[in-house]
Amino acid sequence: LDARHAEYRNQPGRTADAIKLEVAANIAHAIEAEPAFNNGAESIGLFRTEMLYMDRTTAPDEDELYNIFCQALEAAGDKSIIIRTMDIGGDKPVDYLNIPTENNPFLGYRAIRIYEEYIKLFKTQLRGILRASAHGSLKIMIPMISSVEEILWVKDVLAEVRQELRKEKVPFDEKIPLGIMLEVPSVAFIIDQCCEEIDFFSIGSNDLTQYLMAVDRDNAKVTKTYNSLNPAFLRTLDHVVREVHRHGKWIGLCGELGAKGSVLPLLVGLGLDEISMSAPSIPATKERLSKLDSRECRQLLNKAMACRTAMEVEHLLAQFRMAQS
Ligand code: PEP
Ligand code: MG
Repeated sequence: LDARHAEYRNQPGRTADAIKLEVAANIAHAIEAEPAFNNGAESIGLFRTEMLYMDRTTAPDEDELYNIFCQALEAAGDKSIIIRTMDIGGDKPVDYLNIPTENNPFLGYRAIRIYEEYIKLFKTQLRGILRASAHGSLKIMIPMISSVEEILWVKDVLAEVRQELRKEKVPFDEKIPLGIMLEVPSVAFIIDQCCEEIDFFSIGSNDLTQYLMAVDRDNAKVTKTYNSLNPAFLRTLDHVVREVHRHGKWIGLCGELGAKGSVLPLLVGLGLDEISMSAPSIPATKERLSKLDSRECRQLLNKAMACRTAMEVEHLLAQFRMAQS
């Protein structure tokens, strides 16, 4: 760990003018939870569970999932963990599911879209999460939601699973929050309706950039277009954060953008509740945060949204950084 940031590691994320911004960690395995908290994570903002299903011959059963989530909770103490249900299919193949290869995996059969066919798999995961929720603070987050129909369907399935557990007298957290990834642009236009149905959102900036700009996140030929600093993207973020807060709900961000130091002033300007990133980036992020003034960041964001090109936004950020040092 970089000694320069060490003093910030165990402080809560807040700006120079004492505005709170929770700094959380992204993990993909339970064993990553403890080092993440040691690195100063205030919570786990994204537990990507698809890794639990990959590189094996059968899906994990309920007990295995329960034990994994309990192990993560043990490291968390009273801190919370957002568990994202499996984001498999498409470009994340799982051999035992027999999902055919596709020409357009990012637009295809993945995440929430496969849950209806693989309902047993989804319900088993929900049971594992719910059972573990008796032992700590868990939240459920669904990937790739694009419509209210999908949210309503998930809520029905969740209600069924909860009813099953009640009947079996298995304890779980009756107040477990339900949230969605905000990574498909359609959600930005129905955000008010989504707020009526769920408790929280986390912006998946990796996929939201990909889908908003219609540009493959992994194709080196189009990286110029894959730029989260373009004004269209920033305006989308500003719109969704405002709407979510107007409805009194919670919104974080868990894509790679959260760990980009140069972009942090814009994320502060948005007024997000949380940013979640790989654990090693946490101490440096908290230190940078402690030197930012939220009102200056808001002004910077307004200027950035008025820019016409991503390049102009980059210049603006460089100027801001220079004025700070
Ligand atoms: C995202 O899309 O930004 C995200 C956090 O999810 P993933 O990278 O796992 O698709
Ligand atoms: Mg994603």
